[in-house]
Amino acid sequence: SQRTKIKALLTGEHVGTEVTVKGWVRAFRQNRFIALNDGSTNNNIQIVVDFENTDPALLKRITVGAAISVTGTVIASLGQGQTVEIPAATIEILGDSDPEKYPIQPKKHSLEFLRENAHLRFRTNTFGAIFRVRNTLAFAIHQFLQDRGFVYLHTPIITGSDAEGAGETFHVTNFDLNNIPKTDTGEIDHKQDFFGRSTNLTVSGQLEGELGAMALSDIYTFGPTFRAENSNTTRHLAEFWMIEPEMAFYDLKDNADLAEAMLKYVINAALEKNKEDLEFLNQRLAEEEKQKPQNERSELSLLDKLQFCLSNDFVRISYTEAIDILRDSPANKKKKFQYLIEGWGADLQSEHERYLVEKHFKKPVILTDYPKDIKSFYMRQNDDGKTVAAMDILFPGIGEIVGGSQREERLDRLEQRMDELGIPKDELWWFLDTRRFGTCPHAGFGLGFERLVLFVTGMGNIRDVIPFPRFPKNAEF
Ligand code: ATP
Ligand code: MG
Ligand code: MG
Ligand code: MG
Repeated sequence: SQRTKIKALLTGEHVGTEVTVKGWVRAFRQNRFIALNDGSTNNNIQIVVDFENTDPALLKRITVGAAISVTGTVIASLGQGQTVEIPAATIEILGDSDPEKYPIQPKKHSLEFLRENAHLRFRTNTFGAIFRVRNTLAFAIHQFLQDRGFVYLHTPIITGSDAEGAGETFHVTNFDLNNIPKTDTGEIDHKQDFFGRSTNLTVSGQLEGELGAMALSDIYTFGPTFRAENSNTTRHLAEFWMIEPEMAFYDLKDNADLAEAMLKYVINAALEKNKEDLEFLNQRLAEEEKQKPQNERSELSLLDKLQFCLSNDFVRISYTEAIDILRDSPANKKKKFQYLIEGWGADLQSEHERYLVEKHFKKPVILTDYPKDIKSFYMRQNDDGKTVAAMDILFPGIGEIVGGSQREERLDRLEQRMDELGIPKDELWWFLDTRRFGTCPHAGFGLGFERLVLFVTGMGNIRDVIPFPRFPKNAEF
């Protein structure tokens, strides 16, 4: 028979009708009450078992983690905290679960424990909520950009360009590692590899995205990116998803306006579509905050923080202004920063970004016009000769969530910068062609999807907001 999802059942509209519900047992109390969950919501439906008239062998198999199917007529619940329940007419065990061996017990597990059991952590309320919110955010990003006429352009995962990688790339090869072809001079002979050249996993789809934008006007790519960096932080993964819009005829302000509107739109979508999940995560975070010493607790709850982000303009300041603030900050003067800000030119660390957002402005910040020496070669050079039209968006609890810029569309400036930095122009001939033929002002940015999910869910570790985290020494499944 047709199966009904628990989320729909809990609306109460099925009272009086017979339904079949399928899911996994979260708890079984007094041989009588099954808490059943199917992942459509964090809330369980209560199944009431008539244990006196149920085969004891069947009762024994109703264990935590087992998959079951139940048919019965929905009734309004007499118990507190639940709208409806189902007295079971029939119960079928679809998949047994040995309660001695099942790792996910009806108690609060630590996030570390669940990370080690990432294959089963989907079956907890915390991870159910996180991945439903993640789903909403992904869909809302497409919605936002599609509503504005952007073309979803799939940039390649395997690329030949390592212009940006700076040693952070994962190489791709189909060589037999025990028998790698060498040239006469003893170097790896990439010509004999699958693609006839050296290739790597993409670190960003931007350069290819620019080709699309300079023809289709507004494009975005939304795919996995790979960085073999030291991702032993709570903000870095070796495999993460990035949204990279790229727009022709946009300047830096247009770029920032789009990014701010997009962030607000998707956060709002999560608040609307995942009310219960966010209330659950809000509560979860509140309990976690209570464990912290008073002076380390965040002033705002998760829901307040999300609302706050929606109802305030992001602060927009230049890198130069930010350096002045940081240099004169109490944190810098009292040497509270691990990296002290001596003056203009310093690269900002996440502690500085978070200081600006959390302590100084208490709002999301869009920082623009960074020194050219700490940014990439393709960013548009400003007239001062020192800075580029870059923008980073900084979020509370996260630091950098977006990195973007207006791109250098002038061939001579671009080539000159590539020469200065020793970036091989011949390898990027296809990229430079866009500047040779019908170049135009354009801009774009990269939004780290997991950093967005981190912010919206209030989680503390990026490994907990992606279904299958990839980090050093971790790629089991
Ligand atoms: P960070 O300074 O935090 O290392 P980045 O400046 O190296 O980031 P960009 O190259 O600007 O990162 O990439 C664009 C966006 O991708 C970043 O703003 C961030 O949101 C996200 N991002 C970058 N590296 C990672 C990573 N290793 N794991 C998850 N997200 C990342
Ligand atoms: Mg980085
Ligand atoms: Mg950065
Ligand atoms: Mg960046």
